[in-house]
Amino acid sequence: MKKLCLLGATGSIGKNCVDIVKRFPDRFSIVYLSAHKNIEELFALSQAVRPRIAVLSGARVDAFWRSKFKSIGVAVESGEDALAALAGQSDYDLLVNAVVGAAGLAPTLAAIRNQKNVAIANKETLVTAGELVTALSRQNSVRLFPIDSEHSALWQCLVGEDAQNIERLILTASGGPFRQLPAEEFKNVTVEQALRHPNWQMGRKITIDSATLMNKGLEVIEAYWLFDVVLENISVLVHPQSIIHSMIEFCDGSIKAQLGLPDMRLPIQYALSYPERIANDLP
Ligand code: NDP
Ligand code: MG
Repeated sequence: MKKLCLLGATGSIGKNCVDIVKRFPDRFSIVYLSAHKNIEELFALSQAVRPRIAVLSGARVDAFWRSKFKSIGVAVESGEDALAALAGQSDYDLLVNAVVGAAGLAPTLAAIRNQKNVAIANKETLVTAGELVTALSRQNSVRLFPIDSEHSALWQCLVGEDAQNIERLILTASGGPFRQLPAEEFKNVTVEQALRHPNWQMGRKITIDSATLMNKGLEVIEAYWLFDVVLENISVLVHPQSIIHSMIEFCDGSIKAQLGLPDMRLPIQYALSYPERIANDLP
């Protein structure tokens, strides 16, 4: 039984993670849980998975909600610092960081110092402090398991390979909703159009970042820190179908790719169950 500390449980990645945990109750349990402001959903999730502690990082928990949590036997804490405190708990196996934004950095550092492996969706951790995070991981013999689909694909392609044979990492990009839009029409696009990603259902920030392709820039930085490859050897290829999640080119010219449906539960499940692969009933 792998015990998880899940930060950002009410978000798009967080809910997909809870879905996987519910499919495999004999393999995973969630012992710590967080949301930022959505206390209704934090409570509903707490009722469903019964963590030891639930944290609301972005607002106070009033007396009404405290008594509701008490009635189900779940301790509740609040405040930004509570996230790092949760990641610093001793009795769990894997931190799943599904927080959005730079707020994900402090709990990642706390988990690494606590010698816990981190399944990392929060790319901002690596974009803002990749050098610090990777150095600290090495010092503490901690591993970072990427959840971002492209990086999960690269990780899977690298299994059994010697780093010195890698020529290039090729990140795929769908191109987003405006791939075929003429440049002069960009001034008329709406937020609603930008939020309509053709292939992926994701949180609002990453969906907007995908529409502008900023997300791919962040992912190049993420890959740079995760895989220790010089920046010139990381390239991006537009692949509108989002079936190939990324590829590795080796020095002999051969290319290895990882393929799958665009469903984040696949890379989440890979990171949660690593080094095992487990069967599932996903489409
Ligand atoms: P969402 O916006 O859907 O969810 C964010 C989660 O973080 C929610 O639980 C939210 O709580 C919580 N949160 C929001 N602000 C803060 C804060 N300041 N401090 C602590 N917690 C906070 O985001 P996603 O699930 O889409 O993305 C999460 C991370 O995963 C991002 O780094 C993103 O880039 C990355 N990622 C996401 C993918 C996806 O498919 N969604 C794919 C690849 C990477 P509340 O609900 O209470 O606001
Ligand atoms: Mg991605």
